[in-house]
Amino acid sequence: MDKKVIIFSAPSGAGKSTIVKHLIKKYPFLEFSISATSRQPRGSEKNGIEYYFFTTEQFEQLIEKGAFIEYEEVYKGSYYGTLRSEMERIWDKGNIILFDIDVKGGINIKRLLGNNALSVFVKPPSITELRNRLMKRNTDSQDAINKRISKAEEELGYESQFDYVLVNDDLQKALIEAEKLIEEFSSR
Ligand code: ADP
Ligand code: 5GP
Repeated sequence: MDKKVIIFSAPSGAGKSTIVKHLIKKYPFLEFSISATSRQPRGSEKNGIEYYFFTTEQFEQLIEKGAFIEYEEVYKGSYYGTLRSEMERIWDKGNIILFDIDVKGGINIKRLLGNNALSVFVKPPSITELRNRLMKRNTDSQDAINKRISKAEEELGYESQFDYVLVNDDLQKALIEAEKLIEEFSSR
């Protein structure tokens, strides 16, 4: 069987986690790739569940060893990356890897894996709606929201580098569109 991956990238607040969670629940053959990070766990996050947590020194040693297929300093001082060992763990079970990863990481993985990867850019209907969703989600300070919005404006410039742009306006419609993409890609 081909070693396949599906990548979801989006500006923060576009609804990527909502869509990815739905897909993981619906399709048992999809398995979420747990990234490594050097940021601190937030809230109830646990090592090996949301992320593999490392210190900056440990993360830099893993970079030296070539343990990552890709990594980025997504926010200043915080590394995020995908371990090659994590990908093998999922493929060994015969599953398709689902990535929830930042826009640059998504483009890099697509470039490395070509036709074995489906890359999807989740797009908010507008920047105003993106701001509304981040405010409603109530997980970020006003300052953090402003930073995420200015990053989002830059990220929207990369949408043409993805295989598919999924506009998340009406959530039910976006979920059905996402299911179609998964079913078509997994059966080809
Ligand atoms: P991301 O993972 O892209 O940062 P989330 O999935 O956390 O985004 O979604 C951001 C917020 O917007 C959440 O509170 C979520 O419930 C809400 N949301 C997601 N999709 C929609 C939609 N189509 N319409 C309105 N609100 C949405
Ligand atoms: P958070 O700190 O909110 O969990 O995630 C911050 C950002 O890091 C998100 O945009 C997320 O998609 C991105 N991210 C998570 N894992 C990886 C990874 O393995 N590689 C890259 N490049 N970005 C990641």
